[in-house]
Amino acid sequence: MHALKELIENSVDAGSTSIEVLVKEGGLKLLQITDNGHGIEKDDLPILCERFTTSKLKEFEDLSSIGTYGFRGEALASISHIAHLTVTTKTTGSSCAWRAHYSDGKLTPAKPGQSSAPKATAGRGGTQITVEDLFYNIPTRRRAFRSASEEYAKILDVVGRYAVHRTGVAFSCRKHGDSGVSISTAANASTVDRIRQIHGSAVANELVEFSVEDDKLGFRASGFVTNANYHVKRTVILLFINHRSVESTNVKRAIEQTYSTFLPKGGHPFIYLDLEIEPQRVDVNVHPTKREVNFLNEDEIIESICSEIRGKLAQVDSS
Ligand code: ADP
Ligand code: MG
Repeated sequence: MHALKELIENSVDAGSTSIEVLVKEGGLKLLQITDNGHGIEKDDLPILCERFTTSKLKEFEDLSSIGTYGFRGEALASISHIAHLTVTTKTTGSSCAWRAHYSDGKLTPAKPGQSSAPKATAGRGGTQITVEDLFYNIPTRRRAFRSASEEYAKILDVVGRYAVHRTGVAFSCRKHGDSGVSISTAANASTVDRIRQIHGSAVANELVEFSVEDDKLGFRASGFVTNANYHVKRTVILLFINHRSVESTNVKRAIEQTYSTFLPKGGHPFIYLDLEIEPQRVDVNVHPTKREVNFLNEDEIIESICSEIRGKLAQVDSS
């Protein structure tokens, strides 16, 4: 599901206010992301999937920063090596949309014998990325795929995380052939409404908001945690560092620890934590596909956040 995350981040980078995800067979057959962002210029299509093609040059130079998305220019290139990739895109300045097919980093014809040049087509403003037949050329990876429903659950997890985090963007996710959607959030929905839609009212009705910042430690954190009147069976942690969905065992452990003092008999929290750290303090020497992140002054920052959460939970406890 790493590819999906990259595609969502690309759509967010493009200023989209709507991101729709369509899935067939757990993503193996089809994974399609449609956004209404600024689109891609026709002239940029031929090199779009070459490694290190990025329109985000500023970030590209600053490899020490995950403060911004897309500093590698590799996502589309990688996808074109492991799947059939089609890009349909329209910029506001263009009178029509353009569609291009890619294989192994290069433009390829839609059908053998045809031209590989991008074709004019009808389309809305924005970009649609269609990934088909994932791992068609890597049978071992294909076989390692779990059932479609397990893979779909992972897709919903990724879309759900960004849907909670990205207020201002409408998200939807659905399975091909289903009439209903699995995820649907309106662009103007609040964070709590987003949590309600994705994690249910039981969670959303028992949230405590927190926020804390410290200039010396160079961070700002805010979010929501379930109060001690309500707890979930397994910890659910939606952690964003500098707007990327990441994992941190240290953060998770500390929050569980904090929470457990309010629930002596056990029980786990739901928490959404939006953490912004000065980019140069975040360790990105981790491989891009790794979600586990470390940062400078980790212990102090985590303690500062947990102490804030402790205070908020204590207020609920005594009221
Ligand atoms: P990166 O995001 O690191 O630049 P990608 O391979 O993910 O690299 O994307 C390459 C380039 O393609 C981006 O820099 C951007 O210019 C363009 N692009 C990709 N997806 C979109 C999108 N949904 N909308 C607009 N432009 C896009
Ligand atoms: Mg990208």
